[in-house]
Amino acid sequence: MNAQSGNASWAQRSTAAVWHPCSQMKDYEALPPIPIARAQGVWLEDFDGKRYIDGISSWWTNIFGHGHPHIRRAVTNQHETLDHVLMAGFTHEAGVRLAERLIALTPAPLTRCFYADNGSSAVEAALKMSFHYWHNKGQQRPRFISLRGSYHGETLGALAVGDVALYKSTYEPLLMRNIVVEGADAFDRPAGATWAERAADQIKHMRTALENHAGEVAAVIVEPLVQCAGHMRMYDAEYLRLLRGVCDEFDVHLIFDEIAVGFGRTGTLFTTEQAGVCPDLMCLSKGITGGTMTLATVLATDDIYNAFYDDYTKLNAFLQSHSYTGNPIACAAANATLDLFEQSDVIGNNRMLGQAMEDAVADLREHPNVADIRRSGMILAIELAQTDGTPFDWQQRRGRRAYAAALDAGVLLRPLGEVIYFMPPYVITPDEIGQMTDAARAGIAAAVA
Ligand SMILES: *Cc1c(COP(=O)(O)O)cnc(C)c1O
Repeated sequence: MNAQSGNASWAQRSTAAVWHPCSQMKDYEALPPIPIARAQGVWLEDFDGKRYIDGISSWWTNIFGHGHPHIRRAVTNQHETLDHVLMAGFTHEAGVRLAERLIALTPAPLTRCFYADNGSSAVEAALKMSFHYWHNKGQQRPRFISLRGSYHGETLGALAVGDVALYKSTYEPLLMRNIVVEGADAFDRPAGATWAERAADQIKHMRTALENHAGEVAAVIVEPLVQCAGHMRMYDAEYLRLLRGVCDEFDVHLIFDEIAVGFGRTGTLFTTEQAGVCPDLMCLSKGITGGTMTLATVLATDDIYNAFYDDYTKLNAFLQSHSYTGNPIACAAANATLDLFEQSDVIGNNRMLGQAMEDAVADLREHPNVADIRRSGMILAIELAQTDGTPFDWQQRRGRRAYAAALDAGVLLRPLGEVIYFMPPYVITPDEIGQMTDAARAGIAAAVA
């Protein structure tokens, strides 16, 4: 490999020209970006031939491994017949089929599929739809409620309903005033209480907020079961059942942001199956195309849809659009992804893989710096703390040490603060799980040293 085509050259050119996302660019002086030349299955390969297991599915998108032949074929075929056409006034086969399939796979009350082109834009659409619904009913309801530690994306509306200070605090003056309510995650569950008891206890906060803001709240938005970016906080489905109840009682919409947890990640195709409830609006993205293309949808109920449907007496129609709304190639990739769920028992196989991840780190529960290990389906999180249980000082950036050590061991893990987590593609093998968990051990050793 000559110097012009190896890692160092691409890394140097990248930091000179690319402003990388979610990065302090100065960090790249110590640890340059890793240029990836190709990827197959769970493996990423750099320009020097070193291979890494993609332990976080490239930011939670890649659920069936890189370069999956079925998805690749679908993308190629679609590109050869129809690359792109606008979806206002026009339509296309891939988009129609995908909408029909998503409507069939999600709870019966969700009957309409609105396309967007990334997760944040889907959240924006859902918030606007809810607000606009009440507007069309003659009510002004400009407020939203979300949960402590939530994350819904980084455009201004999505950021406003999130609660991760790292991403949000700088922009606070630009954001709409959101109402944040304590959720029911494991972080502060009292010793001895079951998660269900915790849920019943914590729903009181939501009830109080709904009482205090009666008539001004359009919707409650949540990441069902796992608040991923908010350090993989997990909570019980019972909370979602109770939440549906109070939203009905106070007549506000419930929005499920399944952008990270949808498509099998938590042990069912969608979390609605575990919760046994249906939201009024449901956002999907990330895994929807198997991690190949950017696409998102908002699924809506008849009740919401009908509030926008009329003759031109008022501005009732929902006029949001993005240039690449419902891009046919992305829809084809999504249809191919759904085929893969139909062709084999992905969810059943994931149960085995999730258990294998848990078994592989069982001994770490005894580690003096492991404060918690928690799992939901194909997400496993290991939370590090000082030996007395108090959190590490964030400025010590111990998670970053774990990241570097895991890379040396050939695994991409990207801790959230001091939470090391696995969120691998569903095609990972038990052997590769072993390699991934060994890298996490090396990462933990480096982090707590
Ligand atoms: C990633 C994510 C988003 C934002 O999606 P983007 O495609 O990154 O804009 C929104 N909600 C949740 C729960 C996410 O994990």
